[in-house]
Amino acid sequence: MTMTQEIPERESMDVDVVIVGAGPAGLSAACRLMQIAGENDRELSVVVLEKGSEVGAHILSGALLEPRALNELFGNWEELGAPLHTRVTQDRVLMFRNRKKATRMPLWMVPGPMHNDGNYIISLGELCRWLAEQAESLGVEIFPGFPASEVLYHEDGSIKGVATGEMGRGADGTIRSSYEPGMELHAKITLFAEGCRGQLGKQVTRQFELDRDSQTQHYGIGIKELWKIDPARHDPGLVIHGAGWPLSEHRASGGSFLYHLGENLVSLGLITDLCYENPYLSPFDELQRFKHHPQVRQYLEGGERIAYGARAITKGGLHALPRMTMPNGLLIGCDAGTLNFSKIKGTHTAMKSGMLAAETAFRTLQGDGTLDDFEREFRSSWLHAELHRSRNFGAALHRFGTWLGGAFNFIDQNFFSGKLPLTLSDPVPDHEALKPAAQCRPIHYPKPDGVLSFDKTASVYLSSTNHAEDQPVHLRLADTAQAVSVNLERYAGPEQRYCPAGVYEFIEQDGSPALQINAQNCVHCKTCDIKDPGGNITWIAPEGSGGPNYASM
Ligand SMILES: Cc1cc2nc3c(=O)[nH]c(=O)nc-3n(C[C@H](O)[C@H](O)[C@H](O)COP(=O)(O)OP(=O)(O)OC[C@H]3O[C@@H](n4cnc5c(N)ncnc54)[C@H](O)[C@@H]3O)c2cc1C
Repeated sequence: MTMTQEIPERESMDVDVVIVGAGPAGLSAACRLMQIAGENDRELSVVVLEKGSEVGAHILSGALLEPRALNELFGNWEELGAPLHTRVTQDRVLMFRNRKKATRMPLWMVPGPMHNDGNYIISLGELCRWLAEQAESLGVEIFPGFPASEVLYHEDGSIKGVATGEMGRGADGTIRSSYEPGMELHAKITLFAEGCRGQLGKQVTRQFELDRDSQTQHYGIGIKELWKIDPARHDPGLVIHGAGWPLSEHRASGGSFLYHLGENLVSLGLITDLCYENPYLSPFDELQRFKHHPQVRQYLEGGERIAYGARAITKGGLHALPRMTMPNGLLIGCDAGTLNFSKIKGTHTAMKSGMLAAETAFRTLQGDGTLDDFEREFRSSWLHAELHRSRNFGAALHRFGTWLGGAFNFIDQNFFSGKLPLTLSDPVPDHEALKPAAQCRPIHYPKPDGVLSFDKTASVYLSSTNHAEDQPVHLRLADTAQAVSVNLERYAGPEQRYCPAGVYEFIEQDGSPALQINAQNCVHCKTCDIKDPGGNITWIAPEGSGGPNYASM
């Protein structure tokens, strides 16, 4: 039922700090804020907004955890029951040469940051749920199912807070009887912690020109599956990272992972660098064929795939990191780009950025400093030292390829500890890297066998994705005609392949091709917002708690 009625006004709530996103960055910031407030006997109101139906529902990671930041945040995490159950026992790096062969690299040849001694194999979703419990017990209010959809500004241009999205608008834009306007959260300080390619992070970066002095940001798409395997094949604590095949067959780069964690589980995935050139490449199908490699299938045969999902990663590193401060606000974690690509790890760095943000925010609230102090705090932290050491890692791989770039990284990391006095640049944005289809070889992927490999429909089903049906499409095209005139005609419709959830489909409408957007399938990976050749697609949060419902990804 639709109604013609006036749109009700939004209510507002005043808080000291609002945090957008209950990932490792946002939750660590929330916990640290409350810890310091407690130490200083000060009452603080801190609210965390999370778009997932519950904390962790939209969290997807490998995940190997380097516990450094967690040790600092909760030195007694073991006593508090943090879900770190599987310690790394074996660390292997494989060079996949083709669909049958792989060579194991001796560990001394592997760049130092890629070693995993002392790390844990975890479910990041579970860790976030635990962090949320700690935050709540310290007095933080967490609102799951409430995406922040708008940045609010004071008249002087500084940040006033955020507004949550409205609910109950129909697909055609009319308001339904169930309509509820968003809620405004007015905060002294706003922390943006939305993870890779945050919708508001993107806006404030533009608004305050945060990336004016940074190099081009780069991204990857990580597609992950969780398997319950035959106990006889399970080797708890075994960690395998891979490079080369299958992506090398198409002159693309990235890497694979396979981790054996508790209860006969294997977490595996493929991260495809989004600077690939061939529009026929399908990261989803690359992962499907990767599982048929003898080095991978040996663990999966007889097992069952129990979960699937995808998420982009921000991997440009220190050179691409924007300024993280703005008037009354800070950009933290992967929303800014704090992931250490040489380690393929962004959790401990996101956490540390949140903790530093909390410390600066608290001092600012006390009148003992300003948010601008954050840049100084960041520069004198181990987070900066770590990112500085790895600053050339990604650019070396992109510019020189897996072998030569790998050799450069080995020398730079293992002999010079990242101190080679040079700065490699990587200036082509990922969305400009695609070549016209006419210049590329079409790729024909094998049909899934339904045992080790599957199609997108069956995969999305395992992500438990759900969106209210009658709502405006949350994937916005700036120019609808461009989907056919540029994407289809020039690039053979790459969104059909880079989207890991089958959201984009070209259909025939009145005798002409048209783009159909199956928004209900969207797993919120944000790849379309990054890789669309014309930068024509903008991802915005859908209504309420829509999206995947990952149990422990
Ligand atoms: C396949 C894959 C494998 C990885 N493996 C590892 C690994 O082994 N080790 C490691 O350390 N790192 C790994 N990473 C990277 C790591 O997961 C990230 O660096 C880390 O999760 C970043 O934390 P974050 O808090 O910045 O963002 P996120 O973890 O992305 O959390 C952001 C949160 O904000 C919410 N949110 C977003 N927008 C809004 C909004 N507008 N309103 C409300 N809520 C919002 C999201 O739903 C989410 O819950 C991997 C990543 C991927 C994709």
